[in-house]
Amino acid sequence: MTSQFRDVITVRAGDSDGNRMVVRLETEQGRRIYAIGVPQDNDSRTGPTWAYLFENNGMTMIDAGATGSYRHLADGVEATGYQVRDIERVLITHGHQDHDGAAGQLAQEAEAEIWAHDIYTHLLQYNPWDIQRNPSSPLQREMQRVVNADRVSNSAEAARQSTGYADRQRRYVETRRRFQVSRSVRDDDSSGDLGFMHAPGHSPDEICVTLDGLVFTGDHVLPEITPHPTTKARFSPEIRNKVPLHYHCEDDIYGLETYLRSLRLIANLGEGVAVLPAHRFFSKGKFNFETTERAEDILQHHVVRLGRILHRMGTEPTSLEHITRGVFARRKLIGGNLYMALSEIVAHIELLEDAGDLEVREDMSLRSRGSENFRDVIAKL
Ligand SMILES: [Zn+2]
Ligand SMILES: [Zn+2]
Repeated sequence: MTSQFRDVITVRAGDSDGNRMVVRLETEQGRRIYAIGVPQDNDSRTGPTWAYLFENNGMTMIDAGATGSYRHLADGVEATGYQVRDIERVLITHGHQDHDGAAGQLAQEAEAEIWAHDIYTHLLQYNPWDIQRNPSSPLQREMQRVVNADRVSNSAEAARQSTGYADRQRRYVETRRRFQVSRSVRDDDSSGDLGFMHAPGHSPDEICVTLDGLVFTGDHVLPEITPHPTTKARFSPEIRNKVPLHYHCEDDIYGLETYLRSLRLIANLGEGVAVLPAHRFFSKGKFNFETTERAEDILQHHVVRLGRILHRMGTEPTSLEHITRGVFARRKLIGGNLYMALSEIVAHIELLEDAGDLEVREDMSLRSRGSENFRDVIAKL
């Protein structure tokens, strides 16, 4: 993979996954962008969060890293030659704890502004996973049933995992509630040389940011791994009351079809546009210099998966659990991973059901209708 940058200099070496690494990139326009690999305290398979620091009407930072990672971020900033108090604003790509977990402390120490997508402010006081875990369809209730049944049979490990996870999420949501968002970004907004694009699907508030012919993609487009798409969601009455009317159509901001549409948006930026992702920018001892073609690759990955799910169903009625266990390797279905795997399959089944390619029956069995209309849905995105 060759880089689209005029210059790439390693300012500070980190480990082979890029933890603690600081890199200086120079764009074709001569702008310097510092990429900082901010370690996460919990061992996340996504690796460090890459925070980006550059000058645009004052020093601007994209993402801040995970809850509990502020000291790593501050230390990375110092390695660039700048100081934390030089930072005037932090842009949050989306409201997941590995991106905005350290943003509050950064904003406080630097007296910096927090910028995020408009819907972010309205969802701030909720745990993002709670919105998703509130089942919005019989299929999602079935998913919960499978997760709960698994928890009973593998209780010790599951309990250990979910307590650590729940504690961290609680700490995260409590911190976030105190955030003051200075600027609510909307689709097509700009600021100086920055352009903003709303790219929901992995998260309802995801933004991609363009600058000097490249795009910061947060978790929307990642090298090596395919970002987790959301399942469809329905706001609880409590959330609905607090969210402005124009976000009441949840299908516009959640679900696989929404995610794929947002991928097309990035692919349409044109060939050869460099992508700066929030994870896996450096991994296994090498850089991943991706372009917007990666968005098309991820899109095609999902097209293949949609076809494979239908194929696996054959002509006999089958179950969500059976399909999930057929698609994922056993080791990917242990503890909390089972929920992630099931919800990934649910997201695909929801799209196939909308396309009329399968039927979710009352007894929760799934049956293929023998069509592949989903291919037209993808073509029309
Ligand atoms: Zn995320
Ligand atoms: Zn992430």
